Amino acid sequence: MNTPSLLILAGDGIGPEVMDEVKRIINWYGDKRDMEFDVTEDLVGGAAYDKHGTPLTDETMAKAQEVDAVLLGAVGGPAYDNLDFSVKPERGLLRLRKEMDLFSNLRPAQCFDALADFSSLKKDIVSGLDIMIVRELTSGSYFGEPRGIFDLPNGEREGINTQRYTTSEIRRVARSAFELARKRSNKVCSMEKANVMESGILWREEVTWVHENEYPDVELSHMYADAGAMQLVRWPKQFDVIVTDNLFGDLLSDMAAMLTGSLGMLPSASLGVPMENGRPKAMYEPVHGSAPDIACEGKANPIACVLSFAMALRYSFNDGAEADRLEAAVEKVLADGARTPDLLGPEDGTPISTKAMGDAILAALDASL
Ligand code: NAD
Repeated sequence: MNTPSLLILAGDGIGPEVMDEVKRIINWYGDKRDMEFDVTEDLVGGAAYDKHGTPLTDETMAKAQEVDAVLLGAVGGPAYDNLDFSVKPERGLLRLRKEMDLFSNLRPAQCFDALADFSSLKKDIVSGLDIMIVRELTSGSYFGEPRGIFDLPNGEREGINTQRYTTSEIRRVARSAFELARKRSNKVCSMEKANVMESGILWREEVTWVHENEYPDVELSHMYADAGAMQLVRWPKQFDVIVTDNLFGDLLSDMAAMLTGSLGMLPSASLGVPMENGRPKAMYEPVHGSAPDIACEGKANPIACVLSFAMALRYSFNDGAEADRLEAAVEKVLADGARTPDLLGPEDGTPISTKAMGDAILAALDASL
């Protein structure tokens, strides 16, 4: 197979700072593990708007379609808040997701033992937590038509969004959840609101169809999304893989994520259909935004971005062993006490910088050889 290709879009705010640490890790894999990547870099978000007047050029979009994986930092910032909606930095991100048809969004919620005290839940509820939320990303109420704000004859206004799903949209994201479950603890819980929504009834029926016909070996359960939210804070360790739609997934994945502590720790992957070489279309990015309040101060936690690259190793490059190595290196530096400011309370000792966290992860990678 050809050298795997990566397009790095560092973006705005802390995006370039955290991505610098990932670039050092990519180089480490080249030097120490003989894993070369063909890396291209380009602009997205406000950085692209400043140079080209658009948050994503057609050329960058075309590159994203060609590479094996896109690594994205973060987009946005106060300088762009008043731009027209069509050229806001976030539009660049949405265009990538839409045109690459990245329908399956993987958001792990994993609690590192060293950070269990950091959660807002009790330690025994979160310690050892390792769940994966699979959120449908390209359909549902964020895209359904009709949508808009309309004037009514009686002088009132009406806001409309449409929750809409088709058989194939549900089946493909269900398959992606069942595939993941087979590599984990073999359990999927599907969440919707089949008690009050027709789209929820269809969701439940189609997920059940995929289960019965293609993945009978995986354990499947169903839960109403509101009950699921409750169970996620009551006893999150009962779950392995959760599959849900775009809207519920947005809420449930943010909630599950915060069980584990800081936004600076949370990676994500967005996957599409397989390309000719068998690899899925893919984009990997931290869950956090551009954090303008701490940009350019060396305070950003690079771990979410580093763990996003570990997901790329696992899901695009099929190298679970090297993904495990990188995740273990992160776990080790946390166990050794390395903390960026977001991982410390006011009385909790001295924080280290973004770069020092990168140094510590590289040292742990060296020690793993
Ligand atoms: P944010 O995620 O940027 O920041 C929220 C809080 O978390 C801030 O206090 C920030 O300092 C902290 N934080 C975030 N990442 C951190 C890290 N790696 N290390 C340490 N602390 C970290 O969310 P926001 O403040 O609501 O949004 C800021 C900008 O980012 C906005 O323009 C927003 O539109 C954009 N945004 C982009 C994305 C994305 O690129 N995917 C996601 C969310 C928000």
